Amino acid sequence: MSDKDDTIIKDDNNNDYENVCYICRRSESQVGKMLKMLDNMYICPDCMQRTFDLMNSSAGFSNPVVKPKQDKKETDEKSDKPEKNDNQSQNGNQTNGVPPILNLGSGFLNLDNLIMPGFFNADTGIPKSQRVKKAKPEKKAGAENEVPAVLDFKKLPPPHKIKEQLDEYVIGQERAKKIISVAVYNHYKRVTKDAEGSIEIGKSNMLMIGPTGCGKTYLVQTLARLLNVPLAITDATSLTEAGYIGDDVESVLSKLLKAADNDVDRAETGIVFIDEIDKIAKKRNVTNRDVSGESVQQGLLKLLEGADVEVPVGATSKNAMVPMTTINTKNILFICGGAFPDLEEIIKKRLSKNTLIGFNNDLKDKFDNDPDLLAKVNNEDLREFGLIPEFIGRLPVVYTLRGLDAEMLVKIMKEPKNAILKQYQRLLELDEVDLQFDDDALLAIAEKALEKKTGARGLRSIIEDFMLDIMYEIPKDPTIGRVFITKEYIDGKGGPRIVLRG
Ligand code: ADP
Repeated sequence: MSDKDDTIIKDDNNNDYENVCYICRRSESQVGKMLKMLDNMYICPDCMQRTFDLMNSSAGFSNPVVKPKQDKKETDEKSDKPEKNDNQSQNGNQTNGVPPILNLGSGFLNLDNLIMPGFFNADTGIPKSQRVKKAKPEKKAGAENEVPAVLDFKKLPPPHKIKEQLDEYVIGQERAKKIISVAVYNHYKRVTKDAEGSIEIGKSNMLMIGPTGCGKTYLVQTLARLLNVPLAITDATSLTEAGYIGDDVESVLSKLLKAADNDVDRAETGIVFIDEIDKIAKKRNVTNRDVSGESVQQGLLKLLEGADVEVPVGATSKNAMVPMTTINTKNILFICGGAFPDLEEIIKKRLSKNTLIGFNNDLKDKFDNDPDLLAKVNNEDLREFGLIPEFIGRLPVVYTLRGLDAEMLVKIMKEPKNAILKQYQRLLELDEVDLQFDDDALLAIAEKALEKKTGARGLRSIIEDFMLDIMYEIPKDPTIGRVFITKEYIDGKGGPRIVLRG
């Protein structure tokens, strides 16, 4: 069949199309790689196998050979068996809608049995279409990806641009945002320019310390989305030494590969965030093997450093049935995060260690009231906490995030581009209702969240709770034009203030 043939679907962008099997009409995405035959004809492995099976089962042919059509015609002419292919004589069409290469004649194999009805054009005997449009890739679950990819790491956005973008989503945490921006800039400088110089730039893997709900994960997620690099988030508590129940350390790379849609090159420039890293601290006073603590740190060393690692594709553990691929971790940015409870005590102890007896009480008060005590952390403290020196050595960028206070929580509700209050305002705007929050109402929500001790994580559930009635009642009454959420309403002592239209 020539390219000009109008039976082939054409499109300016041929990449949008995929081949279909000449026999069963299933597309390449369904059945896998096809075998190309003559004239843009493709056969899927299943149909090919079925064909051979049928050939083998046909009488007298134990070792069939696929013959071209002409040979068959000649044979037919030579042998004067009148009962030859009925269809062929009926429509006078020698191809009979059967691919020439497989038209092996009656008594041998009738491919009509294999071909789905309606596949061939009745007049021409040519398949109606050889290619079908590719299915659009499925939208990923949880793709409420509101953060657009505005930075391109290959073009190396300078640190201040990275921070500017982070500022639009992450409230406060100024020092952390600054450090992460510089570290990411240096990291991708190393990735994109490393080959050019003789001096090898070290990796800028990071350790992020901060209480729960203060934005550690959110910061990394936002960064990965802005830079459009794949991100794998994993929990260190699920990792164990290879051979024990739990995930091997390589599983973090499997997740990254999955996030990169199995594109190894993309995965190799991605980000891995390992949360709860404090939970793999060396266990004290253990007599048996520390398979989920020190051993996991040991296992992570080579990943952090940069090595070729065999990774199972599409699974988190290796076994004989899972295909493997190799990922080089040299350009993968590893960010570890954790709340590190009790680390403050260790820092305090170190800071007051060298002080003269007698002054200790004064100093203790001073450290107790220091909101930035965690920021004074050093490697000695981390070692004391239970991280092994080799592990600490591979996380050269260490920084802390502050616990959120009420003022910051209010900002988190109001200010980010995708702030939760903005989302509700937009929802009611669609009903032409203006939603407003009194300042003391926001403070009351923040205080409720602080009581929960889960940082900003508690905000959504509190807001959703009291917004339920608003979202239910307001659309009932079309005369309502504006709603003010009041502190009394949050405290359960009153209702919202309602202003009617007009
Ligand atoms: P953790 O520090 O425990 O990893 P997360 O990053 O998961 O906390 O924070 C939970 C949620 O709280 C995030 O999804 C985000 O919506 C919100 N959040 C936390 N900190 C901030 C912040 N500084 N700015 C904006 N939102 C934040």
